[in-house]
Amino acid sequence: MIRITELALPLDYSFETLRQAILIRLALPADSLIDFALFKRSYDARRKNSAISFICIVDITVRDESAVLLRLAGDRHVGIAPDMSYHPVAQASSQLKERPLIVGLGPCGLFAALLLAQMGFRPIVLERGREVRRRTKDTWALWQKNTLTPESNVQFGEGGAGLFSDGKLYSQIKDPKFYGRKVLHEFVRAGAPPEILHVSKPHIGTFRLTGVVSKMREEIISLGGEVRFESKVTDLLIEAGQLEGVLLENGETLRSRHVVLAPGHSSRDTLRMLQRRGVHLEAKPFAIGFRIEHPQSLIDVARLGRFAGHPELGAADYKLVHHARNGRSVYSFCMCPGGTVVAATSEPGRVVTNGMSQYSRNERNANAGIVVGINPEPDFPGDPLAGLVLQEELESRAYLLGGSDYCAPAQLVGDFLRGVGSTQLGEIKPSYTPGVRLGDLSQLLPGYATEAIREALPAFGRQIRAFNRHDAVLTGVESRTSSPVRITRDAELLQSLNVRGLYPCGEGAGYAGGILSAGVDGIKVAEAVAKSLS
Ligand SMILES: Cc1cc2nc3c(=O)[nH]c(=O)nc-3n(C[C@H](O)[C@H](O)[C@H](O)COP(=O)(O)OP(=O)(O)OC[C@H]3O[C@@H](n4cnc5c(N)ncnc54)[C@H](O)[C@@H]3O)c2cc1C
Repeated sequence: MIRITELALPLDYSFETLRQAILIRLALPADSLIDFALFKRSYDARRKNSAISFICIVDITVRDESAVLLRLAGDRHVGIAPDMSYHPVAQASSQLKERPLIVGLGPCGLFAALLLAQMGFRPIVLERGREVRRRTKDTWALWQKNTLTPESNVQFGEGGAGLFSDGKLYSQIKDPKFYGRKVLHEFVRAGAPPEILHVSKPHIGTFRLTGVVSKMREEIISLGGEVRFESKVTDLLIEAGQLEGVLLENGETLRSRHVVLAPGHSSRDTLRMLQRRGVHLEAKPFAIGFRIEHPQSLIDVARLGRFAGHPELGAADYKLVHHARNGRSVYSFCMCPGGTVVAATSEPGRVVTNGMSQYSRNERNANAGIVVGINPEPDFPGDPLAGLVLQEELESRAYLLGGSDYCAPAQLVGDFLRGVGSTQLGEIKPSYTPGVRLGDLSQLLPGYATEAIREALPAFGRQIRAFNRHDAVLTGVESRTSSPVRITRDAELLQSLNVRGLYPCGEGAGYAGGILSAGVDGIKVAEAVAKSLS
């Protein structure tokens, strides 16, 4: 198959426009073109007030491919498309002697389980939370009635932390084996919109994700796997450095020498249990800050100029970075176009923010985390779990500042910059439910973080006009940007450095930072387990 890159197309292109563009680009007679498929599509908005076009990568099947390639040999935008198809690394024997266990049914555990099931290893998945439908009800109870269910919420339950999200599916990980394509293909097979395979910044949106995740669970079960909800793993059985099984909260013991541990970044009791059991852990950097909200139209105009609101472009996003004078980096995190700020705690007496969108991304506001990077040295030195303790402190403080009923503390940007508490909202209405309480967010974060964000917001206002407008709303606290700890593993076998048979993976183990990278890590670990069991 031939691949063409940098093919420009108008925003309103049709199938026929694309076909003609390919024929012209390859100087082909029409009957030489057998088939074509869009591989990637992004847009170029540098001339946002005159012309925005799509820039495409297209895979093409032609008659006499080698002659076409020879003729265009000097053209750096024409070449052979790589084989991105997925090939399983093993197949379980019909006398399977041991079933692997998977702890956690977030994207990482989901893909580890799916791949192991597809290879015939009949995994048993243990998930502390509830299945998707009951979990959705529990989560809405926090958002609408200030009632938290500690084992079933935005962080815990089928689908993991990524379930109530924007469902953004891009990542900057190195992916030489194209596992990211496998993740996207599986999502599409389970009902995600097929366009995620070719748009440059794909997203699924919360509503669709829930259906996709339960479909994937059904496939795992149909292949002989098992999925147990409300099954929290509370201990590990380790004998002479070898994992022999796990203990569940209900007292049941499950024995296996292959346990995939994909607990996410919010399972703090699990991380503490690992520390007690002597599993090797190390502290890692993460980021803290606030969510910021603007009208989506402000972002659209800044990013898309006269094309703001164009149906083919959708709601615009942004990515901002500022290096502050005090040495800190401030950056936007998990930007959700046309979305809402969500209450994302999993623990009583704590408040945490995050963001989500529906597939349509048509809510009034744009939101993103505005966060400051922090490091074990000098910010939380000593114990490997010191970052986790810092997160807990910030989240408890946010709960108190928010009025101790799961409302979140908030402040207008103008007041935050002047150092005065807010008492009244402006035109921008915050979307966080169950609600916000206005006040002074400088009491929330360490001084260096407040100082860095105060410097960054006006700098961001120079990149996106009015980003620092007075009535933009900050809501706190954004503390679970990634895991504060790494459950260290061997680079090749992917097993814990000091407990054989334990495969730490995904975001909680410090090996992923989003849905796609967690899925990719799940595939890698499934392969490692399959090879070991074969
Ligand atoms: C509101 C929100 C929006 C987000 N939006 C996006 C986005 O748009 N795009 C993106 O790429 N990322 C997004 N993320 C981040 C993304 O969700 C995570 O990076 C991803 O889910 C990590 O996957 P994981 O499988 O490693 O862990 P998780 O998804 O956290 O899953 C871990 C699972 O393990 C279970 N578990 C934990 N401990 C135990 C135990 N002891 N026993 C049994 N089960 C256990 C938990 O209940 C949970 O279901 C968002 C996160 C949140 C909270």
